[in-house]
Amino acid sequence: MATATGHCLCGAIQLELLDGMPDSCILCHCTNCRQQSGGLGVVGMLMPRARVRITGEDNLASYRDSKCASGSALVRLFCETCGSNIGAAPEKSPETLAVRGGLFPSGSLPPPKFEIFTMHQERWEQPHDGAKQFERGLSR
Ligand SMILES: [Zn+2]
Ligand SMILES: [Zn+2]
Repeated sequence: MATATGHCLCGAIQLELLDGMPDSCILCHCTNCRQQSGGLGVVGMLMPRARVRITGEDNLASYRDSKCASGSALVRLFCETCGSNIGAAPEKSPETLAVRGGLFPSGSLPPPKFEIFTMHQERWEQPHDGAKQFERGLSR
């Protein structure tokens, strides 16, 4: 499969998904993702960290989010130049990275399989067709 390539707003950080786009993504509506993104939530594409090539890592900054709704700390990555949200990894399993979909070209994202923390959605948001809805995290 062709490598999928994305980058942050300023272009300092480039990401390559070595196995191409995954089959699906997850939409997270939790309050922390809303605050970090400044939007309605985030698009996460779960990838083995080893299969994501990141260049411009000098620009990569991180924030340890210890107040995650999931109960375990998350390391949130962002570009220190432009602030683009790059992804997040559980502190306990850094070999997994939830890469942010918005870094990749529009029209290229796989459909959402799950929507989590829908309890924090705005009342005017609609569920996405084919996405399983969870009021909280996947495990509850
Ligand atoms: Zn940047
Ligand atoms: Zn979230």
